[in-house]
Amino acid sequence: MQLCGFCSTDFSCLCHPVSCKTKVYPDDLPNTSIVIVFHNEAWSTLLRTVHSVINRSPRDLLVEIVLVDDASERDFLKLKLETYVQTLEVPVKILRMEQRSGLIRARLRGAAVTTGQVITFLDAHCECTEGWLEALLARIREDRRAVVCPIIDVISDETFEYMAGSDMTYGGFNWKLNFRWYPVPQREMDRRKGDRTLPVRTPTMAGGLFSIDKTYFEEIGSYDPGMDIWGGENLEMSFRIWQCGGSLEIVTCSHVGHVFRKATPYSFPGGTGQVINKNNRRLAEVWMDEFKDFFYIISPGVMRVDYGDVSSRKALREALKCKPFSWYLENIYPDSQIPRRYYSLGEV
Ligand code: UDP
Ligand code: MN
Repeated sequence: MQLCGFCSTDFSCLCHPVSCKTKVYPDDLPNTSIVIVFHNEAWSTLLRTVHSVINRSPRDLLVEIVLVDDASERDFLKLKLETYVQTLEVPVKILRMEQRSGLIRARLRGAAVTTGQVITFLDAHCECTEGWLEALLARIREDRRAVVCPIIDVISDETFEYMAGSDMTYGGFNWKLNFRWYPVPQREMDRRKGDRTLPVRTPTMAGGLFSIDKTYFEEIGSYDPGMDIWGGENLEMSFRIWQCGGSLEIVTCSHVGHVFRKATPYSFPGGTGQVINKNNRRLAEVWMDEFKDFFYIISPGVMRVDYGDVSSRKALREALKCKPFSWYLENIYPDSQIPRRYYSLGEV
């Protein structure tokens, strides 16, 4: 049953099934380090993220917050930030990238210094809600190979007001390898026998906000350090988790708000298309087998982009004995727009 409408001044009532509020979690949840990377983030949004983490996480579950500055140019993100975080009641580490590296390598740098059992990644413009962390950690406690995302609520980039997100959408992608939200299919509703407090198995994740067991993060190949700036890393990680024996889930009792911006506020050294196409080629070449041809046919220009050396990522796939992409499409994403069986590709 939903309490929707009974308590309209409290956004948490709008989409939370009643039983999320009454859930009791085990006492021995794993603890977590929070990793937040940023490039030229605004003071207000960065601190909104940090304060909401501190105020809305049980203190014994929160080991530390690791901030990784990806070579920002804004002055207040230097000494002023360092002085400010010393006043907080939770240990905050600040790391600085020597040069602009992008979110993938910045996150790898942050992850390397964490000491918690779980690593929780957040974007630098979020707001965590009451209970967000317990729900995520409880699922990892049940299964260390579950990689878990909260429901991402929407914070307006104009008014900064908070609007509840839906538990009826999950992550997919199109032939151009763009991440997209799609309605949760009936098979997933059936599997959960109508209990909307159970996690949704999602084919892909948006990428900004998730928790992962630290040793599992290392085992499963963390991130592809050959990817630059932004883009593609979320699909790469999604395919890898599913194909290599893990699971990727949206924990519907965990809500975190995120400021969705209409345009990227920062530059892409080398050009936006160039960077994203390179990252997408790397993931297609390593994980998609013959299905990469669908991507190349839809976006022929991509073929001209140099994607560097992927041999170590292929070796990882080999070592982890990961399943083929056809298995992923068949079992995890049967509602994909990519046909699972075909005779030939091209125009007639
Ligand atoms: N980011 C970064 N370096 C970059 C690009 C992005 O550290 O070169 C950070 C950014 O500040 C944010 C996170 O990575 O905290 C995700 O980027 P963004 O929010 O732009 O992605 P979106 O939410 O739009 O997908
Ligand atoms: Mn973001």
